[in-house]
Amino acid sequence: MVTRMRRTIFDDQHDLFRSAVRQFVAQEVSPHVAEWETAGIVSRDLFLAAGRNGFLGMSVPEDLGGGGTDDFRYNLILGEELAAAGTGGAGLSLTLHNDICLPYFLHLTTDEQKRRWLPGICSGELITAIAMTEPGTGSDLGSVATTALRDGDHYVVNGSKTFITNGINADLVITAVKTDPSQRHKGMSLVVLERGMAGFERGRNLDKVGLHSQDTAELFFSDVPVPVANLLGTEGQGFVHLVHNLAQERLSIAAAGVAAARAAFDWTLAYCKERTAFGQPIGSFQHSRFQLAEMRTELELGQVFVDRCVESLNAGDLTVEEAAMAKWWCTEMQKRMVDRGVQLHGGYGYMLEYPIARAYTDARITTIYGGTTEIMKEIIGRSLGV
Ligand SMILES: Cc1cc2nc3c(=O)[nH]c(=O)nc-3n(C[C@H](O)[C@H](O)[C@H](O)COP(=O)(O)OP(=O)(O)OC[C@H]3O[C@@H](n4cnc5c(N)ncnc54)[C@H](O)[C@@H]3O)c2cc1C
Repeated sequence: MVTRMRRTIFDDQHDLFRSAVRQFVAQEVSPHVAEWETAGIVSRDLFLAAGRNGFLGMSVPEDLGGGGTDDFRYNLILGEELAAAGTGGAGLSLTLHNDICLPYFLHLTTDEQKRRWLPGICSGELITAIAMTEPGTGSDLGSVATTALRDGDHYVVNGSKTFITNGINADLVITAVKTDPSQRHKGMSLVVLERGMAGFERGRNLDKVGLHSQDTAELFFSDVPVPVANLLGTEGQGFVHLVHNLAQERLSIAAAGVAAARAAFDWTLAYCKERTAFGQPIGSFQHSRFQLAEMRTELELGQVFVDRCVESLNAGDLTVEEAAMAKWWCTEMQKRMVDRGVQLHGGYGYMLEYPIARAYTDARITTIYGGTTEIMKEIIGRSLGV
């Protein structure tokens, strides 16, 4: 193992937490990954086990079942350890629940909603998802066509969503809807659809290039009566709520990207030392050494930026643009790293029994979901006044 550049953002508590997470991943996650990859979905037991061990809802107040520590470094550690162990789609199930969905339930809810949902989210009994993308629109969120029209104390929801992570397992789905279909962004709201609501159907568990253990599904809504008590935040402010929370989502994806890239680097370096060609280890060819040197350099650059962004997030001043920078650069770096890793593994890099092969297929989506690289650059570019 190569000595890493010293990271300065953690204290002893974080180190202890990391040891506990590593043990959890080795005992409760890694042994099941192959089975879940074949099944196309993780067992709900994964969430229950994570909940039992205190790895769900670390930022939720203790009286509601959480860890009582609003410190994203704990989320970061969980995401890093899941990625480093090559858990792929299984790891994403948990980080989506913790890093991406939970903030909506924590910060946009009434006291009644908190009591109703947070204990189950922390125990793993309630699995969450967020549904923005539709068959007709992804990047262009303002064009969401799913409607939620008020009828007394209910909204009547009609439409469909696609590519929804945790889509099959989810009990609570944060759903982006138009409460005023005559408007674009200003007509958007967020409502929570619950498992079992009349007219809420799930489609196929979609067949993907990678992330096989992750259930990614279509959702269909036909006259679903959703109580107004399931509105998240303010009606008409859905887009504002999404923009606010997408910064943490993008940082989570960036951080997982760096951790996955580091795992790819470690596997590749080990392979380069052990495999020989023309009577010498393949890592000793100058080209291989330069590739490895570049990989190592990019890893440290990405890590320093992610760590700095995590400090900003904790301080409450991470900007949308900074999160976009982290997301596009770190995931593009991840993509380059796994590609180089496959090349240096030769034919074995294309065999799924080697972790680099699965890392390669799992990585491809990261520059697309959570906002594409192009949309990230749009966000940054627009902020420059050009
Ligand atoms: C495995 C997986 C999991 C996902 N999980 C979720 C989830 O949990 N919840 C959810 O809501 N969504 C999810 N998504 C959807 C994902 O976020 C979208 O696929 C993504 O935002 C892109 O949207 P799109 O597919 O409609 O592509 P489009 O928006 O149609 O984009 C197609 C291409 O056009 C480019 N493009 C679009 N607009 C512009 C522009 N203005 N300037 C330059 N280029 C542009 C894009 O960058 C892209 O290259 C998931 C997708 C996958 C595959």
